Amino acid sequence: MFSSAYQIARVRGIPIRVHFTLIILLPFLAYNFADAFTSSPLLWGLLAAVVLFASVALHEFGHSLVAIAKGFPVRDILLLPIGGIAQLVRIPEKPRDEFAVAIAGPLVSLALFGGLFALGYGETLLGSREFADFCLLLGYINLSLCLFNLLPAFPMDGGRILRALLTRRKGRLEATRIAAKLGKICALLFGLVGLFGLPGVVPSNLMLVIIAVFIYISAASEYRQVLMQEMSHRPPPIFQWFWSNMRPRRPAPPPSEPLDNNVTVSPPPWQRRGSTRTDLKPDDEP
Ligand SMILES: [Zn+2]
Repeated sequence: MFSSAYQIARVRGIPIRVHFTLIILLPFLAYNFADAFTSSPLLWGLLAAVVLFASVALHEFGHSLVAIAKGFPVRDILLLPIGGIAQLVRIPEKPRDEFAVAIAGPLVSLALFGGLFALGYGETLLGSREFADFCLLLGYINLSLCLFNLLPAFPMDGGRILRALLTRRKGRLEATRIAAKLGKICALLFGLVGLFGLPGVVPSNLMLVIIAVFIYISAASEYRQVLMQEMSHRPPPIFQWFWSNMRPRRPAPPPSEPLDNNVTVSPPPWQRRGSTRTDLKPDDEP
C-alpha cells in the first residue's frame, strides 16, 4: 500500500519517507495557504505547507522516540497526504507502554502550538505581520492536529490511549474490541462530515473521507490481529472440549464430618416451649 514512498532523510536511524501523492499535493496545499498572506503569498504558502508536514513528522517523531526508549524499534516514519504514520516493528502490548507511545505525539503537537503561538503573538506585538500570521496559522494547525489525534478513533492516538486504559480492567482482547467498535463509529461520522460537511461549521472534505476509510479498515484489521494473537495463546477449542470432557477424573473425596462450628444446632425438643429445665432427659419429660 505504501510502497511508492521515497526516503528524504534519516534522523536518529529512523528513515523518513514521503509518499509520492504528498509531493503532488504540496503545490495545491501551498496555493490554499497562500490566501492567508498578503505579501509574497505563494512563498509563504509553500513554506506553510512544508512546515505543516515537518510538524506532522515531529509528531510522529514524538511517538518514535518514546517507542525506542521503551524497546520497540521503529521501521520508518511515513508522511502521507492524510497525515503521518510511525511504523513500529511491533505494537506495545503492555498498557503503560502503549499509553506512553500514544500520548507522546499529541504532546509534541501541543508543545509546537505553544511555541508557535508565543512566537506569533510576540511578532504581532513587534509589528512583523507576515511572520506573525505564519506562526499563528501553523500554531493553530498544530493545536488541531493534537486535538484531532486525541479523538477516540482507534487506531488513532486517542483510540490507543483508550485501549490502554481499558486493557487494565477488561483485558487486551475486550479492550481492543470496544476501541475498534468506537473507532468504526468515529470513522462513519468522519465519513459523513467529509461527504456532506457540517452546515455553517465545516465544509465537505474529501481528505476526511479518505481518513475515515483508513480508520475503519485499520480498526477492523487490528482487532482481527489481536483476536488471532489471543487465540494462539489458548489451546484450540477441540482441545478445550477434550480437556473438560475426557480427562480422567479423580474420585470425589468422601464427605467429611460436619464441623461443630459450621452447624447451627437447634435446641432439643425437651428444651423448646419455653422450658428452662436443661437437666431433663427425653425420658423424663412428662
Ligand atoms: Zn499520533
